[in-house]
Amino acid sequence: MRRKTITVKVGNACIGSAHPVAVQSMTNTDTTDAARTVEQIMVLHRAGSELVRITVNNDEAAQAVPAIVEDLEKKNIRVPIIGDFHYNGHLLLTRFPECAQALSKYRINPGNVGTKTRDKNFAMIIEQAIRFDKPVRIGVNWGSLDQQLLTEMMDTNSRSSTPLAAREVMINAMVESAMRSARLAEEVGLAHNRIIISAKVSGVQDLILVYRKLAAACEYPLHLGLTEAGMGNKGVIASTAGLAILLQEGIGDTIRVSLTPQPGGDRSQEVQVAQQILQSLELRSFTPQVSACPGCGRTTSTLFQKLAEDINGYIREKMPLWRVKYPGIEEMKVAVMGCVVNGPGESKHANIGISLPGTGEDPKAPVYIDGKHSVTLKGSRIAEEFQEILMKYVEKKYERKK
Ligand code: SF4
Repeated sequence: MRRKTITVKVGNACIGSAHPVAVQSMTNTDTTDAARTVEQIMVLHRAGSELVRITVNNDEAAQAVPAIVEDLEKKNIRVPIIGDFHYNGHLLLTRFPECAQALSKYRINPGNVGTKTRDKNFAMIIEQAIRFDKPVRIGVNWGSLDQQLLTEMMDTNSRSSTPLAAREVMINAMVESAMRSARLAEEVGLAHNRIIISAKVSGVQDLILVYRKLAAACEYPLHLGLTEAGMGNKGVIASTAGLAILLQEGIGDTIRVSLTPQPGGDRSQEVQVAQQILQSLELRSFTPQVSACPGCGRTTSTLFQKLAEDINGYIREKMPLWRVKYPGIEEMKVAVMGCVVNGPGESKHANIGISLPGTGEDPKAPVYIDGKHSVTLKGSRIAEEFQEILMKYVEKKYERKK
């Protein structure tokens, strides 16, 4: 069951337990290059990112924000844009009111708002949020944790008769930093339902611990993500391991998977991974799922791998149109199986499935539709014929009712 949280409106998106867990991402373009930033926001949004964060790190970036948001509106791209602020957010939001107005949310890192004037700078950001009626995300990060607070808590811990391990004090300091900042924001006058919290770390066990503590400490919506998750499989697997456990416990109202792309690589991969985590946990449905067996010595033919790949590609290509034309299509399940051992069984569990012939089996491929044997394909056109059957099934099953 979802942990009960309040709803925070971020532009046209609603974050909280009364709404589906939202997927977000972040650009890696230079924000001052408005054209490239708009282009990447569009790619991320098209891939399914429901909120997109951009860095706002200097005067030029703050000046570029209104043009970015305006250009997106002209292109009819309705996605909330979040400004990521560190060190100088109080100055930028005050000096560039058009930027403050154009953004849908401000992300503030309480560890990066100054030292001596920390609370004053933080309050300045909150005042702008109140003035422009924007929510904030108080995003604590262990790499930039408020050192003053950490030192105080470490000192207190060292004087305790039952001191905690340093790691746990650090986790507690993250929770305290987030909660203290939220209290301060409300004291300055920000409404209770204008605050989202995150506390990112790069280790899976720490992530689980810190979010469990945050979840117990407040009713604000939580943004989940493993920071610096890394490249390739490591980033995908570590993020999935951490996020899946928390989501299964009902913790998390919005997620981001922070993958490091290959140089020039596809930034939208992080959106696909985030969607797949939610879909695998059956929390949301985004795209039809193709199950394929891993293959083994019972089938030396690569036909089923090729067919699974083709069907996946075909669905990906068709989805932008199908999503509009065929409501409910994202819940469809397709099975492409390599032999008779699990082929018919798995195919029967799918909306539509095919069991290809394994080595030494009759060169026949039974097709199952909604759990029942429908037809058996033979010959060299099995793949094409299955694709045609799939298309007809989609048209018939998901056609919008007039
Ligand atoms: S379905 Fe057949 S080919 Fe595929 S993994 Fe199972 S036994 Fe091997």
